[in-house]
Amino acid sequence: MVHLRTDIGATNPNAPMHPEANSTYAKELTCDVLIVGAGFGGVYLLHKLRDEVGLNVKIFEAANELGGVWRWNCYPGARVDTQVPVYEYSIEKVWKDWTWTQKYPDFNELRDYFHHVEETLDIKKDVSFNTRVIGSQFDAESNTWEVKTEDGRTAKCKYLINAIGFAAKRHFPDWKGLTDFKGELHHSSFWPDEGVDVKGKRVAVIGTGSTGIQIAQETAKDAASVTVFQRTPNLCLPMRQRELTKKEQQDAKSEYPDIYRKRLTTFAGFSYDFVEKNTFDDNEEDREKFYEEMWEEGGFKFWLANYKDLLFDSKANDQAYNFWAKKTRARIADPRKRDILAPLKAPHAWGTKRPSLEQNFYEMMDRAENDVVNVRETPITEFTETGIVTSDGKLREFDIIALATGFDSVTGGMKNMGLKDTEGKDLGERWKNGTWTYLGMTCHGFPVSVFLPIISPVSQHSITNRHNRTCSSYTVLKDPQHSATAPPVSKSKATGSSTPSPQCKRPASKPSKRPRMQRLAGTSSSPSLTTRLCSP
Ligand SMILES: Cc1cc2nc3c(=O)[nH]c(=O)nc-3n(C[C@H](O)[C@H](O)[C@H](O)COP(=O)(O)OP(=O)(O)OC[C@H]3O[C@@H](n4cnc5c(N)ncnc54)[C@H](O)[C@@H]3O)c2cc1C
Repeated sequence: MVHLRTDIGATNPNAPMHPEANSTYAKELTCDVLIVGAGFGGVYLLHKLRDEVGLNVKIFEAANELGGVWRWNCYPGARVDTQVPVYEYSIEKVWKDWTWTQKYPDFNELRDYFHHVEETLDIKKDVSFNTRVIGSQFDAESNTWEVKTEDGRTAKCKYLINAIGFAAKRHFPDWKGLTDFKGELHHSSFWPDEGVDVKGKRVAVIGTGSTGIQIAQETAKDAASVTVFQRTPNLCLPMRQRELTKKEQQDAKSEYPDIYRKRLTTFAGFSYDFVEKNTFDDNEEDREKFYEEMWEEGGFKFWLANYKDLLFDSKANDQAYNFWAKKTRARIADPRKRDILAPLKAPHAWGTKRPSLEQNFYEMMDRAENDVVNVRETPITEFTETGIVTSDGKLREFDIIALATGFDSVTGGMKNMGLKDTEGKDLGERWKNGTWTYLGMTCHGFPVSVFLPIISPVSQHSITNRHNRTCSSYTVLKDPQHSATAPPVSKSKATGSSTPSPQCKRPASKPSKRPRMQRLAGTSSSPSLTTRLCSP
């Protein structure tokens, strides 16, 4: 039956609970740095801080393996939309002997990749798995963070780093009767590891983000029917997936350092960028030719290697949308489905909402046995034992329902882990009227002596892979009180004054014998990680 708990409940009954300090599963652990989360971010930081800086570092991870989102997301078709070799660590001993089998690898390959990372970097000995953090508070007397786990362990650390990603809290819309459904119902990121047999079954997919698109096109291969419930059309781009050979990757390895460096400088962290030309600098014929080339190359090129005014000029944007609609509508024969999936009028400015990459989504949806329901016109009103009812009173019956309804993204997980400020106020309470951070990395009320209390999803998620742009733009976006031009700063509630950079204050404390944390900017890890640490 469906797992309806929104967070990652995890207790570790088998944790050895060693009494001696610093054992990874100690009942009362002490360490220099405690990282929460063993995804790309947490693993990278453990390696850097333990192996290069020499600190005593541990990770608490709710899942049972390394990999972060790739441990949780094993739904049919789950894969990256970042092409090889951009979505991997730039640590030479990790990349030099690693090759992928596909241009856009799936979750199985990502899991294999993390096994390779483990073999290369020896991470797991310092990770406590099945360990969910439910509380953390700074103790000013001892100058340490005190962290609690769901199964009753504690940890004390000088630096607490929350590398929990953007997806630690699932979103389940509060539909009436959700638990009445007698078939199989799974949230995409709680998909059973052993898989779900969809052969000959009637499958519903709710949601058309990347996940919904991937589940629909994959399950449509075997299911009796797939019905997609769509609120907003996903303006998908063709992935152009292809197999990769070991040889072609080995031959290109000498270019990898440049590719990794480049992803730090491009708009979205890919190896390409917008062209230095505006849409109407080209005449119609040349523009069409340029669009065609990007379209044929596939991936996000049509989005992120397009004319530089694409996201800034509505007329330019219309041109791109019209091209997209022409190409996509040509793939859908059924006129009703065509208008729902690829309407003539853009639902929003093209590319301002992240498009997904698809392989044969439109052809699959066009098949007679499959359907698409526009839930803007006929919203879901309730679930029954056998299916889903929409506002027109129609009951559609299913064997399997996939909830691709996403997450309480980015801040949801952080507000759900008992993180308290110096006054004992929960982060959720602090952020109830808006999300206040400094560069997405820390916020007022979390002591400056811990320079990076929060390496947050705010600074690590995938809106863009460039760290500083990501966190500043997110801070501005989330906080209505920030003007688009004002630099993101944290505000002291008591004084109303702005503090430019909490990280750069230094506490009056005894010099530590421990090696100082160092600036790691530029030593990138995953595409979304350009993490900067500084020391007291
Ligand atoms: C299906 C899918 C496809 C994606 N594809 C791409 C892509 O192609 N390109 C791209 O750039 N990005 C992609 N992303 C975004 C992805 O989130 C990042 O690329 C990256 O994996 C994030 O790594 P992370 O370490 O920051 O967080 P995560 O991978 O989310 O890891 C966070 C970890 O923290 C743990 N955790 C959370 N809360 C707690 C707690 N309270 N206690 C203990 N542990 C906790 C979680 O169990 C998790 O393992 C994709 C995401 C998904 C879901």
